[in-house]
Amino acid sequence: MNNNFEYIKTNIDNIKYNIEVAAKKSGRSLNDILLLAVTKTVDIDRIKVAVDCGLKDLGENRVQELVQKYEILNSDCNWHLIGHLQTNKIKYIIDKVKLIHSVDSENLALEINKQAKKNNKIVDILVEINIADEATKFGIKPEDTEEIIIKLSNLSNINIKGFMTVAPLVNNAEDNRKYFEKLYKLFVDIKAKRIDNIDMKYLSMGMTNDYQIAVEEGANIVRIGTGIFGKRN
Ligand SMILES: *Cc1c(COP(=O)(O)O)cnc(C)c1O
Repeated sequence: MNNNFEYIKTNIDNIKYNIEVAAKKSGRSLNDILLLAVTKTVDIDRIKVAVDCGLKDLGENRVQELVQKYEILNSDCNWHLIGHLQTNKIKYIIDKVKLIHSVDSENLALEINKQAKKNNKIVDILVEINIADEATKFGIKPEDTEEIIIKLSNLSNINIKGFMTVAPLVNNAEDNRKYFEKLYKLFVDIKAKRIDNIDMKYLSMGMTNDYQIAVEEGANIVRIGTGIFGKRN
């Protein structure tokens, strides 16, 4: 390994340790939590270091960047789209992604279903919830979630696999605990309803600044960029 990239390995080891500690607090272990490496703006050489450390699940928030990196790295990795998706761009990623985290409207889900059908695929998605009701954020309102999920449950070519949220930007991660708690509760509530074709398996919440709190509150996917690769330009 290029010595200049040693820091990536060190960061990953530290993050895994922190995840393990947080997971134990919620009665789970490191293996119950997927560490998704967020690779937006990160060059291929550095991404390869993370992949070599065992992080095979990579998250991108822009379609074009995902497609470019997929061409180079696809066989080694699972790609996750985590950013807002415009309906006219679904076609570029539909055959490349393992999971779309950022399904933030009923209309987007309908369009993904259409494109998936065209491609003879069944696509796994998460419904993005705007858990803190922020005007600047994408996502479905917590109170509208059940109704929308029931509508989407009939679609043949998407599988709803859980929820994702981007918590508010805060200085003190503890300030987000209440939001993680709230989304976990919604996750459990919907799961308990056993809606046909809905498999509430993943709860994607927590980023560099607040992933430990998110895991303590029940996240099983954390999305980490700067914590692994350092500051983005
Ligand atoms: C950039 C991004 C992340 C990772 O953010 P960091 O603070 O760098 O860990 C996670 N989720 C989404 C949706 C993002 O766009």
